[in-house]
Amino acid sequence: MNEMAPIQAPTAGCATPASATGREILKERGQREVFCGLTGIIWLHRKIQDAFFLIVGSRTCAHLMQSAAGVMIFAEPRFGTAIMEEKDLAGLTDANEELDRVVARLLERRPDIKLLFLVGSCPSEVIKLDLSRAAERLSAQYSPDVRILNYSGSGIETTFTEGEDACLASLVPTLPEAAPERQSLLVVGTLADVVEDQFRRLFTAMGLDDVQFLPARNANTMPAIGPGTRVLLAQPFLTETMRALQRRGAEHLPAPFPLGEEGTTAWLAAAATHFGIDQSAFDAAIEAPRNRARKALGRYREQLAGKSLFLFPDSQLEIPLARFLQREIGMQPLEVGTPFLNKAFMAPELEQLTETAVVSEGQDVERQLDRCRDARPDITVCGLGLANPLEVEGLTTKWSIELVFTPIQGYDQAGDLAELFARPLVRRTRLEV
Ligand code: SF4
Repeated sequence: MNEMAPIQAPTAGCATPASATGREILKERGQREVFCGLTGIIWLHRKIQDAFFLIVGSRTCAHLMQSAAGVMIFAEPRFGTAIMEEKDLAGLTDANEELDRVVARLLERRPDIKLLFLVGSCPSEVIKLDLSRAAERLSAQYSPDVRILNYSGSGIETTFTEGEDACLASLVPTLPEAAPERQSLLVVGTLADVVEDQFRRLFTAMGLDDVQFLPARNANTMPAIGPGTRVLLAQPFLTETMRALQRRGAEHLPAPFPLGEEGTTAWLAAAATHFGIDQSAFDAAIEAPRNRARKALGRYREQLAGKSLFLFPDSQLEIPLARFLQREIGMQPLEVGTPFLNKAFMAPELEQLTETAVVSEGQDVERQLDRCRDARPDITVCGLGLANPLEVEGLTTKWSIELVFTPIQGYDQAGDLAELFARPLVRRTRLEV
């Protein structure tokens, strides 16, 4: 497996790989422009099909969710907001009693709910509503039919993708215990069902049968964890979830993230190497989809090679994305911002990222905007709040939120991922004609 474990030399147009340990990180602490962790509910509720996310929050939280997930308006929703009114915030009512009433009404009306998350927000935190005690109290009342957990998605405690991390971390202590001798692979991080199915087929084809996914699609099919569990992270923002899994005896398999052909190959190879999969079985399993990915990327390489790129910190996907765009598409990352840098997760990525790219952690948005304006990148990846003003200034932007909502992992999505960056450039060219 040696050929596949490390990513091989960069393809044309790339700079020398940097050492993860020697790289200087620009650390910034200032005003930041990032969504709160409630946003994760948008993709989590689609994945866990018998879960419900009850936000204990304000009308602002409800509006955020309504506009972010507007497409769900005609469906039977699997998230909602228990709106705290002024009298709740002023402590004039017993918020716990109100919450119990809302939960009772919800579960009576929706017997399909098997897993209920009470999701904390800024207002519930400000009045110090103890949702973990509420979850315990309600669990005692409704289990075993419904399991009730809690986590915080508030903007005080979490940014954007940290909501998923907090949600999955809350699930880990409830996962069943695996037998100590069971050796299994656990893929962690929400993936679109179609991507999960592709990965499962690839693992099966190479001879790896005991593969589980967290989160599972249903509350009663969540994975079992034990000392023989080895974890491949499908998403880079899962620090707390990984810690919780380690407390259950699981071990992390370091790997680049499965973005692009190289990233996907190295990610799969990390599991194959650990489980002693034969090289020829590995090669045979990946050959066809790997070739499809290479072919799909060739087209976008012609369009995007040499274009410069500036990524504002948002989803924590920025470093793997920059690595993919640099190595496989030939783009030039100028600055790669990330809200937090987990060096253990990112070491395999940073080793491959050009030394000429500034890696920044945290944000001081005004200073970063100044650097971006000075650099005049061909594409700027940023949150919705920054995109419009930068477009007005003549910069071409890509909304980072799309990269979380769109299936981008794996071989068959490599071309789609590249296209997400080609599209804004084509749009601007058309506008300029
Ligand atoms: S949790 Fe906080 S930041 Fe998020 S929508 Fe509610 S009030 Fe706003």
